[in-house]
Amino acid sequence: MTSFIHRTTRAFAGRRSRVRLTPHQWRGLVDELGRRAGGVREAGVFLLARAGDTSTTVLRVVYFDDVDPDCLTSGISMSASGFSALWRICSAEDLRVIGDVHTHPGNGVRQSPIDSANPMVAARGHVAIIVPHLAGREIASRECGVHVYQGNHGWDSSFGRDAARLLYVGRWA
Ligand SMILES: [Zn+2]
Repeated sequence: MTSFIHRTTRAFAGRRSRVRLTPHQWRGLVDELGRRAGGVREAGVFLLARAGDTSTTVLRVVYFDDVDPDCLTSGISMSASGFSALWRICSAEDLRVIGDVHTHPGNGVRQSPIDSANPMVAARGHVAIIVPHLAGREIASRECGVHVYQGNHGWDSSFGRDAARLLYVGRWA
């Protein structure tokens, strides 16, 4: 019974979400992005979920600069070898990339023209999350921009409460 209730609650909590993380995962991720950005540059991370189903629960994260140490220029430019390393991790661990998170200075969480022209993964439904203030402090999901790729260089962008609905951070992740 308990496990039935847990499953039902999990299905209900954040049911319109595109990315699901526990508060512990989210805090750790923001913390680490802030550390890597060092208050002066952007940083980013890929979000990986189980391959072969539609689960949006994040099981593993891969920081951009771990697969491409030179990618954190003033913006972010991931090399082909960085992507190869990412695909190797996905195939070895049976995971798929469902989204990415990168930081912006200040409180602007809209995509730059470069962001919208260059999805990290150009797959319909890929979620690009932008964290403000270079992740230099704790950030709530409603402070982020959540941008869902629609294909053909089109994005659906959400902010505030709508962003928090798509980016579920809670115990039922
Ligand atoms: Zn950006």
